[in-house]
Amino acid sequence: MVTLRGVDFASVKAQVEQASEWLKVQAPAQPPTQRTEHPEGWCSKHGVQMTQNHKNGRSWWSHKTTAGWCKGE
Ligand SMILES: [Zn+2]
Repeated sequence: MVTLRGVDFASVKAQVEQASEWLKVQAPAQPPTQRTEHPEGWCSKHGVQMTQNHKNGRSWWSHKTTAGWCKGE
């Protein structure tokens, strides 16, 4: 049995409990997931799914915003 001289066990225990509580607060159980994989036509700028347009043999993705049409990045 190891005893710590001059250290009150109860206060140490309280400090450890405080530290573990602090760690719980500081370190969330799961880190924020950063999704890098998006389906085709995903506008990462606005975080929305664009719709595909077809015209004259060309096709492109776009979606409408309050400022007008957005074609992604
Ligand atoms: Zn957009």
